[in-house]
Amino acid sequence: MVLDKLGTSLKAALSKIANALFVDDTLINELTREIQRALLQSDVNVQLVSDLTKSIKARAKETSRLTKKEQLINIVYEELTNFLGKEPKEIKLPTKIMLIGLFGNGKTTTAGKLAKFYKKRGNKVALIQTDTWRPAAYEQLKQLAAQVGVDFYGIKNEKDPVNIYNSAKLSNYDVVIIDTAGRDALSADLIKELNNINNVMKADERILVMAADLGQAAQKQAETFHKTVNVTSVIITKLDGTAKGGGALTACAITKAPVAFIGIGEKIDEFEQFNPKRFVSRLLGMGDIETLLEKAKESITEEKAEDLGKRFLKGEFNLLDLYDQMQAMSKMGSLSKLAEMIPGFSQLKIPKELLGVQEEKLKKWRFAMDSMTKQELEEPECITGKRVERIASGSGLKVQDVRELLKQYAQAKKMGKMLKGG
Ligand code: GDP
Ligand code: MG
Repeated sequence: MVLDKLGTSLKAALSKIANALFVDDTLINELTREIQRALLQSDVNVQLVSDLTKSIKARAKETSRLTKKEQLINIVYEELTNFLGKEPKEIKLPTKIMLIGLFGNGKTTTAGKLAKFYKKRGNKVALIQTDTWRPAAYEQLKQLAAQVGVDFYGIKNEKDPVNIYNSAKLSNYDVVIIDTAGRDALSADLIKELNNINNVMKADERILVMAADLGQAAQKQAETFHKTVNVTSVIITKLDGTAKGGGALTACAITKAPVAFIGIGEKIDEFEQFNPKRFVSRLLGMGDIETLLEKAKESITEEKAEDLGKRFLKGEFNLLDLYDQMQAMSKMGSLSKLAEMIPGFSQLKIPKELLGVQEEKLKKWRFAMDSMTKQELEEPECITGKRVERIASGSGLKVQDVRELLKQYAQAKKMGKMLKGG
């Protein structure tokens, strides 16, 4: 997949939200730090990354109908989408498209891809080769036109692109695509040539074709082309071949040259319209996001944790409550988050066993509790030696397991009392 490393890192950052108990400043800071790291690695501009982070942090404080976790995941998704230009670039038909760009960025290949894109949608398409610099360019585009099955115009050995354009009969097409010559760098000479062609053809779209491996340098290139030849949009090619594509994608979105298409391979079909929302959904794996949101809902809510904490403090709990609480803690991963919410809690020396409750143990306790009477559950103090043995044999556990549960309960109760007293 395109930019899969970026996708993986962003997904990892988001799953932190789902697994966390609370959305607090610590979590938001951690999340934004990870998003920053992921974006910087894909070569997104530092200033942009910093703006995005600020935006996420500011919006995280907004109130919303969603739970805080859902809201946060949503904010990240929306901000990333904004970052890429939000709405897809629209090209109205009929249209004349002039492809411009430096040597080797993929103009000619892209001309073929675009022709196929529009032909498949039932449009009448013409390809014109005006690159008079590279002798092979004529044959390259002619072959692509034949492969796609669209009309081709060009004059072998003609030196003036304007003559080539003028000789083509273009009145009957929905889409006319003009391939142009490149240079190693944007020279005054290239600017003049492009402007000369454009003066006669009056292109509706002047599309800059730029390779993704330029990374952040793409922004500068897009800006210079934009200033000199008035670029209307950009096609980023070779997104398949680099982890740095985040640079070109985001940089172009913020210049006044939005990304219209992306090239994701050498083959003629490896090309697609660029849709920021769809791109982010795929990058983050929308299926994965939904799973995350589900998980965020499933884990214990802040309200429930708070309630448990309060009852715990009052010493108003029986074995069933303890079990609930243990289960909640095992979902949270630790007691420390709960402790943070309750004043005074952190000063207590909490027994190690209470801090980390394993699934296995919880299961055993569940069995033990199923073998208890109502009275035993509500007043565990009444469970003496004989009863312990009965519960153990009834639940298929060792006496020791049942004792451990009772010890846990006694400890918790003691802690509750200490807190109440203190
Ligand atoms: P031009 O000089 O701008 O016309 O560039 P070309 O169209 O001749 O392409 C230069 C090279 O880039 C060729 O080898 C293409 O196959 C390759 N290329 C173009 N687009 C893509 C793309 O999206 N992905 C990959 N991997 N290669 C591409
Ligand atoms: Mg070419």
